[in-house]
Amino acid sequence: MSIIALVDCNNFFVSCERSVDSSLENQPVVVLSNNDGCIISRSDEAKRLGIPMGAPYFKIRAELMRRKVRVFSGNFALYSAKSSQVAQALAAFSGLREFYSIDESFLSLNHVPPAMLREFARELKAGVRQTTGIPVSIGIARTKTLAKLANAIAKKTARLDGILNLHDSPQLDMALSRTPVERVWGVGRRLSATLKAAKIQTARDLRDAPDKWIMRKFNVVLMKTVLELRGTPCFPLRETVPQRKSVMYSRSFGTLIETQSQMEAAVSDFTARAAEKLREDGMATRYLSVYMRTSRHIPRESRYSASGEMALPVPTDCTHDLIREAVGIARRIFREGFQYYKVAILLTDLTPAAEKQISLFETRDVNRLQTLMHTLDRINRAHGPGTLQYAAEGLKKPWLSRKKSLSPAGLEASNACPAISADAPRPLLGFVHPVQG
Ligand SMILES: [Mg+2]
Repeated sequence: MSIIALVDCNNFFVSCERSVDSSLENQPVVVLSNNDGCIISRSDEAKRLGIPMGAPYFKIRAELMRRKVRVFSGNFALYSAKSSQVAQALAAFSGLREFYSIDESFLSLNHVPPAMLREFARELKAGVRQTTGIPVSIGIARTKTLAKLANAIAKKTARLDGILNLHDSPQLDMALSRTPVERVWGVGRRLSATLKAAKIQTARDLRDAPDKWIMRKFNVVLMKTVLELRGTPCFPLRETVPQRKSVMYSRSFGTLIETQSQMEAAVSDFTARAAEKLREDGMATRYLSVYMRTSRHIPRESRYSASGEMALPVPTDCTHDLIREAVGIARRIFREGFQYYKVAILLTDLTPAAEKQISLFETRDVNRLQTLMHTLDRINRAHGPGTLQYAAEGLKKPWLSRKKSLSPAGLEASNACPAISADAPRPLLGFVHPVQG
């Protein structure tokens, strides 16, 4: 027997803002993407005003003002922290959880007697609200696909109060026939066009489609979805609770660093090494810290140490994203007039890279980025570390410890090999240079 709940935070970014500012309750609220580009989260009140998701801010700014909508620039450090809080709160309700995205988790409820499911869900919902301030909706069913579907209905149907239990429920058929086929988890727009052409309009039609036809016309993945709609689990719940693992890259300098530009180069270099390690382990990070200090064996007035950190909006294993943020932190904490002896880069809150959530407002081609990172790693593995590197890491690297700079694959080799240059990054591999502004 399998009982799975999908717990999804309602209007997550808006709810995070409300959890720290109660004056926003019952007000129309929207949250904007990076650089205030477009709307990425809306409160129910804002939805009722007809404000569309994804609308460019500059186009509807006047309307938002006129209708007294409260507008927020995305505060992704807050959202990331809230997301961890919610994940923690869920731990009290199930020992087996899959952290699916920043605002969604699958929970195994196999330990709950079926007759108690609704009561249990009510407690869960109240518990999360009480400890985190975040409202959630809960869909319960035998499979992930059905739990997703139940959740979507729970969220849209006011009288359900955010909970729909479709586990062995007489309402299952009705729920399936009310769900358009393109809304089924994993079907999407492209497949649904073909399905609709074959008169498969709803989740129920898809459930009842002949196996042979699905296998002939589509593939085994859609067949699994069909089986899931019939109540047979094909997408097992995989435990991906945020792991305690971390990656640290720390070195003391061969030559002391005194200028900000050298510091930025060293931080970029170390961050690139940490990112390589991250990808080796198949992980992505959500939390980045930079630490720098002078020697401890100098007069007290010449000593300085500082650290800074940042929660990332989405997990990443991409070197240039990490370099950009690390350099930003380094700029914030660097002080002129000291001789720096050591820098450390720490990446924490790791999740498997395969699960990393693609940002709603990611405008770059994610597959291309991934290919770029793999290529970078492959070349550096084959031809020695630093064969291909970011210009931000600096070409001379005077901070390398003596041992390193004397090694055969050290300075001379990396200077002679093609580097991704700051002046011409685009023609080479087509990405935006990491350090801007
Ligand atoms: Mg949500």
